Amino acid sequence: MKTKSILILILILAFPFLINAQPTIQKQYENIILIGNASDIKVLEHVISQFDEAIFGFQKSVGSYLAEPITIKIAADETEYLSWTKGTSRIIEFSQAFYSGKTDTIYLRNPSKMQSLNRLQRIMLHEYIHHFVAKFSADVPLWFNEGMAVYFSGDMGFDREFNFAKNHVLGNTRPLNMMKYLSLIHISEPTRPY
Ligand SMILES: [Zn+2]
Repeated sequence: MKTKSILILILILAFPFLINAQPTIQKQYENIILIGNASDIKVLEHVISQFDEAIFGFQKSVGSYLAEPITIKIAADETEYLSWTKGTSRIIEFSQAFYSGKTDTIYLRNPSKMQSLNRLQRIMLHEYIHHFVAKFSADVPLWFNEGMAVYFSGDMGFDREFNFAKNHVLGNTRPLNMMKYLSLIHISEPTRPY
């Protein structure tokens, strides 16, 4: 009897969490497919038109256009994001996002703790550029691929220089050829988007 009461109590306490678990849905905006739960997709909707314009702007500046849509999977939480990074390069665990050419998908850490929407948009553009480069050539050198992504996503700045310097001093820099996935610049503290 006592065990039964405890079980009932646990169920009552867990109920809000159970009903909070949102189903995964899919939404498409132009050439961008978002997969995640409704509230996280709502966060991305704030920057989706800006992101779409940025993609177009990037394609215009390089003079090539890619009609193929890009899929972005938004992790519901840390556990889900970390499960996606399993079996990949270790540094991806600390990234805000990574692109996988195997699935043609950008995997995004849950955006609820993101400091700014502008930053979120730049991270998505950065990863999109890896997708774009991968579609045009499978054998692009990593330094070129990363350089393209950093330069065209407008991601150069003091923060980046500072983090490179800091990671270098701390001995965290890794050679580019160690990067199985194209995510070098996202090495940093877990809470900081890189
Ligand atoms: Zn990158």
